[in-house]
Amino acid sequence: MTIAEAGQAEVDVAIVGAGLAGTIMATVLGKAGHKVALIDPHRVHHDEFRAEKTRLESMQLFEKMGLGPVIKSLVTSTTEIQIFRLGQFFQRKQVSEFSFSYGPLINGLREALPPEVPLTVGKVSEVSTGPDRQRLVLNNGTVIDARLLVVATGYSEAVRRAIGVERVEHSKAHSLAIGFDLGISPQEFGSRSLTFYPGRFGQRIAYLSVFRIGNRMRANMFVYRTVADPWAQAFRADPQRMLLQLMPEIAPQCGNFAVASPVEVRQVSLTTTTGHRRDGVVFIGDAFSTTCPAQGDGILRAATDVDRLCSTYIPAWLATPGMGADKIGTFYDDPVKVAADASAMHFSIYAKSIATGTGLEWRIRRLRNNSARQLMIIGRKMRHLGQRRAPGMA
Ligand SMILES: Cc1cc2nc3c(=O)[nH]c(=O)nc-3n(C[C@H](O)[C@H](O)[C@H](O)COP(=O)(O)OP(=O)(O)OC[C@H]3O[C@@H](n4cnc5c(N)ncnc54)[C@H](O)[C@@H]3O)c2cc1C
Repeated sequence: MTIAEAGQAEVDVAIVGAGLAGTIMATVLGKAGHKVALIDPHRVHHDEFRAEKTRLESMQLFEKMGLGPVIKSLVTSTTEIQIFRLGQFFQRKQVSEFSFSYGPLINGLREALPPEVPLTVGKVSEVSTGPDRQRLVLNNGTVIDARLLVVATGYSEAVRRAIGVERVEHSKAHSLAIGFDLGISPQEFGSRSLTFYPGRFGQRIAYLSVFRIGNRMRANMFVYRTVADPWAQAFRADPQRMLLQLMPEIAPQCGNFAVASPVEVRQVSLTTTTGHRRDGVVFIGDAFSTTCPAQGDGILRAATDVDRLCSTYIPAWLATPGMGADKIGTFYDDPVKVAADASAMHFSIYAKSIATGTGLEWRIRRLRNNSARQLMIIGRKMRHLGQRRAPGMA
């Protein structure tokens, strides 16, 4: 019998939010035999511009949690990145990356939920937490009583606010994520992707990445601007012209490309949470912290939270009485979680500073990095010339 039919349920763990973190956690805990309720206001996750790429470390965690086969069936794999810097080809890297559209990824994961963990569609209208039992009332009157409440509601504030935690903004409107389709043939790309870094200082661009999702070619660009910046409006109005001005090296790599979809733009802030060390409830994924998507760490942070909780903490918490703040605090102090969050936040701040910082320290770092890159480019060209001359000289 589903929770919706029963109107009342008693579970080990109630997970609010069936995005990436909530859905994988429900799957892992359900398969381990725990009684789980997974609640989300929408049966089908809407199509939205969110994460479109993740890296090998995330896939390794998904595999460790037993989710490798389902996730691999929902993503496109890339094995080579070609990197362009200072307007020229710079480097070829053999790196595994995985790309996807967020809505279909989440819906695919929801479809793969074990039968004993159905998705309960509803909005939380009341929540009370304590050292032993947590109680949720949904807008249809359903009452869910749990030993542990997991908040996985992403950017949404309603449930967090009802519990009494607050977001701390470390860098408001830190960056803009921009996504659009490119009208070029995916077959030409095979299993490579392209990354273009800005050619000169002052463009406020982290990078542009071109990659395949199924039979679509997609571009993600991350810039250090706000949505209100006239640059953002100009880019939306004529992305192709602006791209060719900013990074003319794209054109020979992407053929006679055209921007083939509306340009999607989302502002992102760097945030953490305060007041979260409390009885009965744990915050995960974006409901705990948000970092810059340019670093591609969001999925890895969410997967790390779920892995640490499901492999170590939740089984131990459920095996002993009570669910006090001291128990839950052990997760927030977990060295693997702390390192994943700290690294994502550090690189979010560092990448913006190196791209936009005007202080002496940042100017010196840029000069040092770009000089080293120029030398690498010259060295590669000379080696290439040497190889071409060699047969005639022999
Ligand atoms: C534009 C953009 C691009 C990004 N690109 C990347 C990238 O390339 N790589 C990367 O690793 N990360 C990227 N990220 C970050 C990444 O998308 C997130 O870190 C990750 O998706 C967080 O997953 P989550 O499960 O915590 O939240 P979400 O997936 O947002 O899930 C939240 C869920 O909670 C539900 N919910 C909301 N309110 C309630 C409520 N009141 N009651 C019940 N349920 C509720 C929602 O319906 C949703 O299903 C990007 C982010 C943005 C905004």
